[in-house]
Amino acid sequence: MSLERVALWIDGAQYVSEAERTSTTFNPSTGRPLAEVPLCASHEIERAVESSARALPAWRETPPVERARVMFRYREMLATQFEELAALVTREHGKTFAEARAEMQRGLEMVEFACGIPSLLMGQSLENIATNVDCETSRHAVGVCVGITPFNFPAMVPMWMFPVAIACGNTFVLKPSEKVPQSALRLAELLSEAGLPPGVFNVVHGDKVAVDALLTHPQVRAVSFVGSTGVAKYIYEVGTAYGKRVQSAGGAKNHILIMPDADLDQAVRALQASAFGCAGERCMAGSVAVPVGRIADDLVDGLCKVGKAMRVGATDGGATVDMGPLITREHRDRVATYLDTAKNEGAEVALDGRAFDLPGDGFLLGPSVVDRVVPTMRLAREEIFGPVLSVIRTGDLDEALALGKQCDYGNGAVIFTRSGFAARQFKRHFNAGMIGVNVGVPAPMAWFPFTGWNKSFFGDLHMQGMEGVQFYTQQKMTMTRWFASADESHADPIWKSKAAGK
Ligand code: NAD
Repeated sequence: MSLERVALWIDGAQYVSEAERTSTTFNPSTGRPLAEVPLCASHEIERAVESSARALPAWRETPPVERARVMFRYREMLATQFEELAALVTREHGKTFAEARAEMQRGLEMVEFACGIPSLLMGQSLENIATNVDCETSRHAVGVCVGITPFNFPAMVPMWMFPVAIACGNTFVLKPSEKVPQSALRLAELLSEAGLPPGVFNVVHGDKVAVDALLTHPQVRAVSFVGSTGVAKYIYEVGTAYGKRVQSAGGAKNHILIMPDADLDQAVRALQASAFGCAGERCMAGSVAVPVGRIADDLVDGLCKVGKAMRVGATDGGATVDMGPLITREHRDRVATYLDTAKNEGAEVALDGRAFDLPGDGFLLGPSVVDRVVPTMRLAREEIFGPVLSVIRTGDLDEALALGKQCDYGNGAVIFTRSGFAARQFKRHFNAGMIGVNVGVPAPMAWFPFTGWNKSFFGDLHMQGMEGVQFYTQQKMTMTRWFASADESHADPIWKSKAAGK
């Protein structure tokens, strides 16, 4: 059976790549191949960057309010196509339809944020910084920007980037994950239908070869990356060495503290959603439960109970389940090996996701709870990116707070408690960038920055919110002084002002 080759999007139209190297995407629910993805060579990347460079001068000069109008139309088109887009995300990623709808909603909000670009681009000014001298700042597009995105949010993570970048007057080349290329292509088609001029937004497909070509291209001025920490660090180092501004978000290991005074049912439900939502394939997944003191036994019992009751199955075709498949067979198998690792290292597998009855050829794995993990074990240190929840039991709040410093990552961390003091200590001292208090997944909305710390982020300006606008613009400061003119053409008294020269 020959598979459809996913098109690139260049100059406002589909473009069939001639790439000789390809990879195959799968429907994770069925295990069946979905499409063939071209792995572009550098000359096709060149074509996309050139297209973006050609479109830049006119787009940069398009008034912000007109750029915003494109975003308003895009927002309406996304809202109209909402269910179709969510179904596409479910088909190529495997998350449940409800999770795909939530993903689309977050992406839509990024477009809503970008609709406000005339206000967001406003500068500052101060008159008379010295006599008759005024000073002002203005924001200017950076140029051709690039986005390289992971598989776990096929629509939302690209939308952290391109709506704001484009609204700021930049042009953009997106290289989505080669595991989920189709959602990005559809987003590009709709943006074109919303009135975006050809070349302002291009989409290419590929692997490291395509990424390296983008990362080192002399016409690329800014690179946004989201993916695993090893690649994030590489992107940051190479991109900055080539003179580009880079924001590079990496992997994560997020702790959820449960104090003895917490509402146990609420904490268990929040942990279930945080650890097993999107099959654990979220950079904000709560992957380490940290019971403090006497609550540990009840917490582990509760987690095993709710985990065991979860309906795990195919998500494509309208099935209603609590958790869908993982992205590929290889990734599912890799996640499952952590359960052997856990036993070998002396932890206790309290709920084993391999024991679930999982019919069909989808890349399924049930939820797992691994108790009595300690900070030195691989389960505590490595990002698993699947439905495996580790439990690290601690004796007091200080021991729990110290876990943040013992972990390389620093995306999110959460506390469940009724104590304002414990919550405040946690908020101030836990070593992570996004904090939740009695909230399972503290992922910020579009208007706030996505503030990962440590090895969860390389760079200075994060995605989303005003930091996103700052990343995609360069500032200009203008200092102005006008002299009362003595020349002939200004001799007429109408030019005189009593205030002049004061
Ligand atoms: P990945 O690092 O394998 O791939 C991400 C992107 O990088 C893809 O487009 C891929 O083609 C490209 N890539 C892969 N290997 C490369 C290499 N050697 N050189 C250059 N480019 C390369 O990540 P993934 O498996 O697609 O996504 C999961 C990861 O993303 C997890 O670690 C997750 O925590 C992370 N993530 C982080 C955030 C965040 O905000 N911090 C958000 C979502 C996902």
